[in-house]
Amino acid sequence: MGGDGGTITKKTHITLHNSIKDGKVAPDDNRKAFSDASIWQCCRLSNKPLQEPIASDYKGRLFNKIEIVKWLLSKDKQGYSQEQQDEFKDIKRLDDIVELHDISVVHDEKNSNEVSVRCNFGEDILSENKAFVYLTKCGCVLPKVAVSQKKTSVPERRCPNCNTAYDDLDTVFINPANASKESTQLEERITKLREMKLHHNGKPLKLKKRSKTKDQSPESKRQKKSTI
Ligand SMILES: [Zn+2]
Repeated sequence: MGGDGGTITKKTHITLHNSIKDGKVAPDDNRKAFSDASIWQCCRLSNKPLQEPIASDYKGRLFNKIEIVKWLLSKDKQGYSQEQQDEFKDIKRLDDIVELHDISVVHDEKNSNEVSVRCNFGEDILSENKAFVYLTKCGCVLPKVAVSQKKTSVPERRCPNCNTAYDDLDTVFINPANASKESTQLEERITKLREMKLHHNGKPLKLKKRSKTKDQSPESKRQKKSTI
């Protein structure tokens, strides 16, 4: 441990996020290795070891859901560095994340602070060694091969774990490499969803103005009143 041992964790956040930023390799190789491993083991927002419930955003980053709730509840974001505020600015409501299922947090026998996350479908530990996805409809985490194999002719695709129907827009890569084909696909996916007026979790965006062309039912009028 260095001389900084007494400082609070906020400082760690800043240095760690610096090292990850833009996928640039930090001059210190050890730092790079730590960052690569930590994205599979630590909450991206708080850098705390991952603990259930775990959630993910449209970029496939992993978070402790409780930390996202704290983030959302903090209106002025005073407890967060400017860098964190920039990096997580797209997370504005719970609809911007999906709670993940069918995973388990495994604690290291020697050091309980060391955790890894296991995908129960196939029993693999989440890491960069294998590609993983989750489905926004059900939150199930799956090895990528488990969903790509299902791509064949069947018009309706179903989660191999829980049988929920889904389509390509419901599939999110977990921790894709920066500037990879997968991370580009995720950006294209969220652009498409926004055009379709949908949140990351598939729920409709709440529109401020309602269209006059339809929806004159008593129910819609009631909704209109209640939103004003
Ligand atoms: Zn499922």
